Amino acid sequence: MCDDDALRVAPQTTESVDTLRKDWDFWMDLPNTSSDFIRVDDMDEKIGAMETMLLDKTVYQSMACGDGACTGCGEKTVLHLFTSTMTALMQPRVKKHLQELNDLIAGLEKRIREKLADTVDVSNLEAIQQSLGRHAAGDLKLSDLAKELDEGRAGSPLDQDWLKSMTRLIAKLKDLKWRYEEGPAKNGRSNLGFINSTGCSSVYGSSWPYNPYPFPWANHLFQDSPSVAMGIFEGHMCKMADGFKVLRMARAALEGEVNFGQMEKDLQYFNWNLFTDAEYLLCPPVCAVGGDGAMYDIGFQNLSRMLMAGRPIKVMVLDTQVYSNTGGQACTSGFIGQVSDMAPYGKAWKGKSEIRKEMSLIGAAHRSAFIFQGNTSNYTHLIEGFIDGINARRPALFNVYAVCQPEHGVPDDSSVSRSRMALESRAYPLFRFDPDAGKDWTECISLEGNPALDIDWPRYTLDYEEEDGTKQKLDLPMTFADFAVSEARFRKHFRVAPQDTWNDNMVMLADFMELSEEDREEKFPFIWTLDKHNHLMRVLVSEEIVRSTEERLDFWRTLKSLAGLTRKVDPEEIANRVRSETAQKLAQGLMSMLGGEGSVLNTLVAPTDAAPAKDSGNSAAFEPVWIDQSQCTSCDECVTINPKIFEYDGDKKAFVKDPKGGPFKDIVRAAEKCTGQCIHPGTPADPAEKDVEKLVKRAEKYN
Ligand code: SF4
Ligand code: SF4
Repeated sequence: MCDDDALRVAPQTTESVDTLRKDWDFWMDLPNTSSDFIRVDDMDEKIGAMETMLLDKTVYQSMACGDGACTGCGEKTVLHLFTSTMTALMQPRVKKHLQELNDLIAGLEKRIREKLADTVDVSNLEAIQQSLGRHAAGDLKLSDLAKELDEGRAGSPLDQDWLKSMTRLIAKLKDLKWRYEEGPAKNGRSNLGFINSTGCSSVYGSSWPYNPYPFPWANHLFQDSPSVAMGIFEGHMCKMADGFKVLRMARAALEGEVNFGQMEKDLQYFNWNLFTDAEYLLCPPVCAVGGDGAMYDIGFQNLSRMLMAGRPIKVMVLDTQVYSNTGGQACTSGFIGQVSDMAPYGKAWKGKSEIRKEMSLIGAAHRSAFIFQGNTSNYTHLIEGFIDGINARRPALFNVYAVCQPEHGVPDDSSVSRSRMALESRAYPLFRFDPDAGKDWTECISLEGNPALDIDWPRYTLDYEEEDGTKQKLDLPMTFADFAVSEARFRKHFRVAPQDTWNDNMVMLADFMELSEEDREEKFPFIWTLDKHNHLMRVLVSEEIVRSTEERLDFWRTLKSLAGLTRKVDPEEIANRVRSETAQKLAQGLMSMLGGEGSVLNTLVAPTDAAPAKDSGNSAAFEPVWIDQSQCTSCDECVTINPKIFEYDGDKKAFVKDPKGGPFKDIVRAAEKCTGQCIHPGTPADPAEKDVEKLVKRAEKYN
């Protein structure tokens, strides 16, 4: 992912390992990164460039090592981002909480001092003078003065019960503080805990303390992690409830007189259901982690039960579409035509024949949990999904695409690029279901982050060379087959057609799929790809891959219909829209010819290093977004967030394609995440956009 090609692969030698060890020690000795470089304004609100959280050493080291995994294993990246997000969320909360603990301890101690002083009668000034005289040659202590003033009088007796309760309370607060700062393990209180189903993630995790997880971690049977997590959650919440009881009592004691006995009774059945939101967010999450075999198949009943039970346990499914750890058996999460080591391709078996089980949809059907499906190629979507799911006061299921090099048959350094292909070919669409987002599924489901939402297959450009060296381009649909052709798990389904065999009966797969069964007779579906000389190749596609591609398309269309994105086409509405847009452009063109400010060019293409003129065509206040292209690092953030607003030019520098191509929210988010800090959001085109005032405030920083 390094844009500057600064990272190079080098052979490992004894000397290089020594150097790395020294560098590591040096890095550990350095102070933490200054927060000036961490461009996260508000983690809970997802404002800023979330991935910069990794610059914080504590966050980065929320998972370390795990090198028992295959080189380049996609699971590790997913888990690292997951644990990092949790740590980054918890750190500021714990810091604030510790501050409150300190304040409460100081406040209660002051309260006791005041109460003790109240028992001393200071109205007898003559007695005080005499006491001072007696101690003129030495120190006068409060205890001596109190004793002498009290001699021969009844004095005010101390409320011993009150004092006992207060001192107990302070002792409990101090114990809590110690647990956060130090605790039995000397690392302070953990930010999370894992229950790991047996599988790759547990095996490369190894045994405590030689595992990559610097937090409580337990391993159980393949199928059990959601159930074990439920039990642990209850115990963990009892501990948290004990702490919050102490805090509530301490706050009450500072506010005035309190009947501790009554308060104890009132809080007898205090449990996590009664926590305030602030208390809930202070609870380190309990997570169940497993692969697709553990969660889709063998432990599915446990997972389903857990999702229905309502406890806010966070489940991570590392979806490799195969049982990776046991040597590669087919899993219900696999694609049609997928071959695995223990289910090889042959005469009788041509890869998996069933359609893929869609865990995210099944999870959503429970209607009780936050469901998220993502992958590391869109890390902004991934981290933001983690934040929402972790913060949700309900169960959360994260189903994340994880590249498995040996079972997918892909290079060790290809995790991110393969994940991107899986996303762009609809093999693994992004999806989220948030029951708190609305009443019906169209409101609860979001397909945000998927490329080219309006069409079946996103388009891509294939650059190739003619035999005579002429450079050419081909605009093509990115189908599931275009993804599958470069993975060994599907390789048996593709056959190169030598150029002298090309004929009219060969039909591009995307077109072939539009044909009726009858018209498909005698036709051969193919996809375009390149040979090692960069020349075009036709690759014939098997029947299984045709089925698999159709199945992926059906699933994509199902998702769109559930999300309410497949409206019936109304020709009249389209004609009206075209008429209105044409009239608007004509009017703007005329104005620009007349020297007015509303030039179409001004609104569409922002000049380099200069802010565009205001668009006075529709609204005097509208200032379109512009980009200082000289600072663009080609980081993909803006074009991923909304390709209708932002696009790359021929030099891979982003420009504003259409400042009204999407909501102002996307423009502000792009500005916040832009690594070049070169997007200037301007003002919203639609003043009625949801939360527009908050967005304008966020945009101010970048204008
Ligand atoms: S087998 Fe696959 S999932 Fe398991 S450690 Fe290797 S790459 Fe990762
Ligand atoms: S404009 Fe910013 S966000 Fe867009 S590609 Fe360039 S550096 Fe990245």
